[in-house]
Amino acid sequence: MLRCTLVFHVCLALFLCAGTVLSTNAAAADYHQYAFDNVKVTAINDRTNAFAAELFPTLSHYPDSKKLLHNGAFAGVVRTFLLQMGKKLILVDGGWGAGPHKGRTVEILRSLGYAPEQITDILVTHLDIDHVSGLINNGKRAYPKATLWITHSQYNAWTQGEPRNKASVAMARNVMSLYKDAGKMCLYHWGDAVLPKISAMQADGHTPGHTVFCVQAGQKKFYLLGDLLHAGDLQLAHPECSSQYDAQPARAAAIRREILQRCAQEGSIVAGAHFLPIGVVRTAGTGFAIDVKAVPAVR
Ligand SMILES: [Zn+2]
Repeated sequence: MLRCTLVFHVCLALFLCAGTVLSTNAAAADYHQYAFDNVKVTAINDRTNAFAAELFPTLSHYPDSKKLLHNGAFAGVVRTFLLQMGKKLILVDGGWGAGPHKGRTVEILRSLGYAPEQITDILVTHLDIDHVSGLINNGKRAYPKATLWITHSQYNAWTQGEPRNKASVAMARNVMSLYKDAGKMCLYHWGDAVLPKISAMQADGHTPGHTVFCVQAGQKKFYLLGDLLHAGDLQLAHPECSSQYDAQPARAAAIRREILQRCAQEGSIVAGAHFLPIGVVRTAGTGFAIDVKAVPAVR
C-alpha cells in the first residue's frame, strides 16, 4: 500500500486582500474569497443542489424548520474549496465535474486565473460521486500535477466491503486508480498533519472514512466540514437530524454535534460542502448557528 513520508517545508506568504464585502448567501455567485491570516480561501460553487424534505426522515420532529423549505426542499450547493497556502494550491473536494452534471469547478478556477496544472494537492472529505467525479476529465486526471491525499480509512472503505452506492464506488475506484497509477496518490492517517497547517479528523458516519479538515490560519482555525451537514440551517439547529445520505445516521448525528461543539468552544470558522454560509459557529438554543458577519468575504 502506497505510503508517503509527510515531510514538508513550511513556506507561507501573507496575502493582502481588500475589496467589497459580499453576501455569503448569494446562491448565484460562482465563488467567494476569504483571507484568513496566511491562508487565502476560495469557496467555489460547483453547482446548486437542493435537498428534498423527504431526505430527512425525522423532519416532522422540527416544525420550526418548515419555514426553511422552498418548493419542498432545502436550498443547497455542491461546493469545492481552493486553499492558497504559500506555494501550495490545495483543492478540497472535486465537485461533479464538467459533463452531464455540469459541475463548474475547473471553469471557475480558470476564470480566476488558476490553471488545473497549477493545483499541487487534492484533499477529499470522502469519495461520494459529487465530491470526486470532478477529479477526472475525459478519462484523465483533471489536475495532472496534483497529489491526491487519501486516508487509510477512506481507502479501505472505498476499495473493500459492500458498496452502498455502486455508481459512487465505481467512480471512487476509478479516480484513485488514475492518480495512483501516475504515482500521484498518497495514503495517510487521521490525526496526521497531512499538509502544512492542515490536520485530518475522523468524522465518519456520513460515509465510512468521512474526514473533516482543520486548517490553522494564524490564531484561527478553519474547519472544512464536508458532508457533516447537508441542509445547513436545519442541521445546525437540530444536529440530531440526519439525512438518508448518512450511512450511519446515529453515528453521523453524534459526530456532527461533537465537532460543532468543539468548533463553537474554539470560536472557529466553519464551511460545509453543501450549505453556503461560511462563518464562526456558536451555540444557539439546543443547537448551533453560524455568524457570517464575523467572516466577511473579501471578494
Ligand atoms: Zn456530498
